Amino acid sequence: MTNQAQDKRDLRIVIIGGGMAGILSAIKLREAGYTDFIIYEKAGTLGGTWRANTYPGLACDVPAHLYTYSFEPNPNWSQVSAPGPEIRAYFENVAKKYGVVERVCFGEEVASCEFINERWQIRTKSGRADQADVVIAATGVLHHPNRPDLPGLTSFRGACFHSAEWDHSVPLDGKRVGVIGTGSTAIQITSALVNRVAKFKLFQRTAQWVFKGENRPYDAAERAGFAKDPRKIQAVRAELEAFFDTFSSAVIDADSPKMREIEAACLANLEQTVVDAELREKLRPNYRAACKRLIFSPDFYEAIQHPNAELIVSGIEAVEPAGVRTKDGVLHELDVLVLATGFRADRFIRPAVVRGRGGVDLDTVWEDHPVAYLSIGIPDFPNFFMLNGPNGPVGNFSLIRIAEQQLHYIMQLLDKLRAGECHEISPRHSAAAAFEKARAEAAKKSIWATGCKSWYLDKHGVPASWPWSATRFDEEMAAPKFEAYDLM
Ligand code: NAP
Repeated sequence: MTNQAQDKRDLRIVIIGGGMAGILSAIKLREAGYTDFIIYEKAGTLGGTWRANTYPGLACDVPAHLYTYSFEPNPNWSQVSAPGPEIRAYFENVAKKYGVVERVCFGEEVASCEFINERWQIRTKSGRADQADVVIAATGVLHHPNRPDLPGLTSFRGACFHSAEWDHSVPLDGKRVGVIGTGSTAIQITSALVNRVAKFKLFQRTAQWVFKGENRPYDAAERAGFAKDPRKIQAVRAELEAFFDTFSSAVIDADSPKMREIEAACLANLEQTVVDAELREKLRPNYRAACKRLIFSPDFYEAIQHPNAELIVSGIEAVEPAGVRTKDGVLHELDVLVLATGFRADRFIRPAVVRGRGGVDLDTVWEDHPVAYLSIGIPDFPNFFMLNGPNGPVGNFSLIRIAEQQLHYIMQLLDKLRAGECHEISPRHSAAAAFEKARAEAAKKSIWATGCKSWYLDKHGVPASWPWSATRFDEEMAAPKFEAYDLM
């Protein structure tokens, strides 16, 4: 062992969550020589969102070769946009290959993290206690189901569940199925179910713009080509990255020509694909494309024109034992009611209790809305770092790339701790406040702030997202500006 290695402080690191970002953290920590780390995962298996979501039609509308760890390309993706089970299997295989699985404590939900005596004291729901120098919260963005507060919901006689808690024991074939919501989830469910059920009713509160995303299979020859020559995958990835970088530059500037092009493509999709004029008008949003997260779908408009399908635009009055009563007085009789009503995107690590220096409570700090310096750290919460935390780049692009960049940044903060240059590192209040002020100001220019309701908006209507270019994010994540941190 070199003197330098001997001098290194052996950090104990707790990772919360065994999804894409948690698995990534374990792999990269080991690679960097950390040995004392553990993942707490509340479920019995890995995969995060791809474990929790199992609804019919589940897929990732971000193309598969982009929705892949940069260091673990997968020549075997079956389609441009991979189905959910394939993505889940990918994460499970990567976790196995890199020895992550043996580092996971399954069935342990972190209930609290408190910074006491310069260390994080962690408790799980089951009562297990642990201590750590560093906590990495890889708890995901969209995993607390948002249950609609509809009168009579519990009186429904049929099966009723949230899209993220799909009950596979419930038969669907030949049944009357209703889906509430028109987000990316509901749209994928629609395409998957219209052929299978006797009657499919989609309850739309707000129409959505739909970008026609291609989803063709990769044939055996293409897959063999990817396996033989990794440069082919790199070329596909580079092309996709360029497309999504253009997209992410467009959405942050509502007046940009590229944004107008995307809107025109969505409008053309609506005009050219929906034949019936009345249905077309029902499907026509009254706000700008990409204001809400844009739907990428190869076939939603075809699906909603299927003879079994019905788009219901009259608001929901109440749920009754036999079905859903809409405001026009009609009772829509159903066997199954799916709540594709989205997630509480402002929850992040909560309901876990997180208390930083001097007992400061995260719920109090985030009382108005969740904030974090560069989406990663919070003043007074030393050595506590988030992946895909508040106000980071979220949208129609790969969160894997974002998490990889954030982790690269966090590892540079850890280096300071490991080298013994400090014991505690957290962003300064002044840096965090200045960042948030500039971020919120810039976000007002984005397409998300052009007059629609979405989970991108905080309670003041300010988009809770990264409002600058992907290039600026790359630059920020390349190296921390240590003057923005308190090193103690
Ligand atoms: P979502 O985009 O938040 O959509 C929720 C839907 O439920 C909206 O249409 C909303 O209507 C409706 N809704 C909520 N409460 C309602 C109520 N009380 N009555 C009637 N309608 C109600 O949720 P999601 O579709 O689950 O998607 C969430 C996010 O997950 C996406 O934006 C995306 O980031 C991610 N996702 C990604 C993929 C992918 O392929 N990459 C697939 C699925 C999901 P309003 O619009 O009127 O509020």
